[in-house]
Amino acid sequence: MTERVVIIGSGPAGWTSAIYTARASLEPLVIEGAITEENRQRGTLPLGQLTQTTEVENYPGFPAGNLVSFLDDSIDETRRRYMPPHAGEGISGPELMELLRQQATNFGTRIKTDDVVSVDISSHPFKLTTLDGSTLEALSVIVATGARANYLGLPSEDRFKNAGVSACAVCDGALPRFRDRPLVVVGGGDSAMEESTYLAKFASLVYVVHRRDALRASKIMAERVLENEKIQVKWNSTIDEILGTDADGVTSVRIRSTVDDTQTEELEASGYFAAIGHTPNTDFLDGQLQTGSDGYLTWTEPGRTMTSVEGVFAAGDVADNYYRQAITAAGSGCMAALDAERWLAAKGLE
Ligand code: NAP
Repeated sequence: MTERVVIIGSGPAGWTSAIYTARASLEPLVIEGAITEENRQRGTLPLGQLTQTTEVENYPGFPAGNLVSFLDDSIDETRRRYMPPHAGEGISGPELMELLRQQATNFGTRIKTDDVVSVDISSHPFKLTTLDGSTLEALSVIVATGARANYLGLPSEDRFKNAGVSACAVCDGALPRFRDRPLVVVGGGDSAMEESTYLAKFASLVYVVHRRDALRASKIMAERVLENEKIQVKWNSTIDEILGTDADGVTSVRIRSTVDDTQTEELEASGYFAAIGHTPNTDFLDGQLQTGSDGYLTWTEPGRTMTSVEGVFAAGDVADNYYRQAITAAGSGCMAALDAERWLAAKGLE
C-alpha cells in the first residue's frame, strides 16, 4: 500500500499536520519516533521537546486551572501512564502532547511508534525505511522531526533536568523555582543573550558563563546583556559541575577558568540554562533536502512549507531556528498539511 501522507515526527507540528490531513480524509500515517535509550539520551523521544518541560503557560487556549476532568475525559485510558500526575495549575508539556496526539487519533490518524532511519526521495513514490526494518511508500511526506537542545553532556545536567536544568527560558523561566533567585546561563551566542535577558525579568541575578573573552552574539543583543544590571558575564569560564540535591534540585554551579584551569568558583544558583545551540533532527535525510548553513531545512518558497524536493514538506523546528515555539510549530504543521493536500490534489494523487 502506498500512503498518501506520511508525517515524520510527533511534536506540535507533526500532530497538527495529522489533524488537518486526517480531517481532509487523507488518512495520514504518523511515524512518531521509537522509544529507545538512544532517543532518551538525545532528547528525541516521541512527542518531542515539550515532554521535557513542566507547565506550558504560553500555549493559547490553556490558561491556568485544574484540567483533571477534561484530561480524564478526552485522553484514552491506555495513554494515561505516559502522563505525570496533573499538577492542577494549567497544562503541562506531556499533557498537551497527549491531547494533540489524541485529537489526531480521533480523526483516524494511524501511528507507528518507530524511527525513520533512512529515506529515498530521489524518485516518486518516496521510500522510507524504519528502525524495525520495514519499508513504506509515500506520495507525500511532511518532515516534522524538530530539533534538540544541545547540552554540554555533563551527568549532572541529566540528573537535574526538570529540577533546575533547562534549555528553554521562555518555557521554564517563569516557574516559581527560578523567581528572585540567581540563575546561570551557559553560552555566548544570541540564544544565551536572549535567554539571560528574559530570565533577568524574574531572577535576582543571572550569570552568563562564556568560554571566551568575546561574545559571539549580535552587537545589539550583546549590548542589551552588558548593560543589564541584573546580568553578570563570567568570561573565560566553562561549567565544571552542576551541584544540588534530590530534594532541592540545582543549588549552585561550579565554573572553571579557561585561562587557568586550577581556578574554580561556585556560583549559588537555583537554575542552569544551556544556551549553546540546537541541532535539527535531520540525520535520517542524509543530505537529500536543502538546508541552510545552520543545518535547518529550507523552505524553498517564502512563507510556504515546500522543500527542495517536490512533495516533501517541512514543518516545525526542523525548519525554524528562529521562533522555536510550540504554537509556531503547530501553525506551520497546519501550513504543511494544507500545502501537501493541495499538492496532491494538483497532481491528481488524492
Ligand atoms: P550559536 O550562535 O551557535 O552560539 C552558541 C554559543 O554557545 C557560542 O557562544 C559558543 O561558544 C557556545 N558553545 C557552543 N558549544 C559550547 C560548549 N561545548 N561549551 C561552552 N560553550 C559552548 O547558537 P545560538 O546562540 O543558539 O544561535 C543560533 C542561531 O540562531 C544564530 O544564528 C542566532 O543569531 C540565531 N538566534 C537569533 C535570535 C534572535 O535574533 N532573537 C535568538 C536566538 C538565536 P563560542 O562563541 O566560543 O563558539
